[in-house]
Amino acid sequence: MTRIQMSKLILISLASIGALFYLTFVVIKLIPKKSSTQNEKIHYHAGFVVFENNKKLDFSDTKYMFLKPCLVNGKEEEEDRSNLQLEKAHLHDNVGDVVHIEAKDPVWKDLFANIKFTMKYSNTTGYINNKKIENFQNQPIRPYDSLVVFIGENDEKLLEQKITREYIETQSKKSIECGN
Ligand SMILES: [Zn+2]
Repeated sequence: MTRIQMSKLILISLASIGALFYLTFVVIKLIPKKSSTQNEKIHYHAGFVVFENNKKLDFSDTKYMFLKPCLVNGKEEEEDRSNLQLEKAHLHDNVGDVVHIEAKDPVWKDLFANIKFTMKYSNTTGYINNKKIENFQNQPIRPYDSLVVFIGENDEKLLEQKITREYIETQSKKSIECGN
């Protein structure tokens, strides 16, 4: 083998090793990290109040609550697909105006569906963070959003009773179910 042949061989070997490393890197990058977004614990809160003809509706009854314990034998429960809809938006600890969000892409109608409160959306006006929003029910729920829903005829002054960020913070800290 001549010197030139030898250096060619070394060069090719090096190039191959380099390519192999590069490919390995690319493949590792492409493999989705084991559902990193799904396993990432989502947990945030928002507030809401509903008025029907100037009367505030009370959602603090146990029938509106999500009672699934988050911890089973001190370990986080395996994610249960059937609970995914409920995880999107639910209430805890008989607090009827702070929504807990524990799954991706929640919209406001998820909350009312999950607490089995039938709302005729055509007869409602929704305000999110003091702004009147068309089809509020289809709006995503974002951290510390504050929703006010008017059903029927209501005094606009009631908007002042919207849930504040401070209130959401204190109430959500109380949560014994999933709180953190
Ligand atoms: Zn919570």
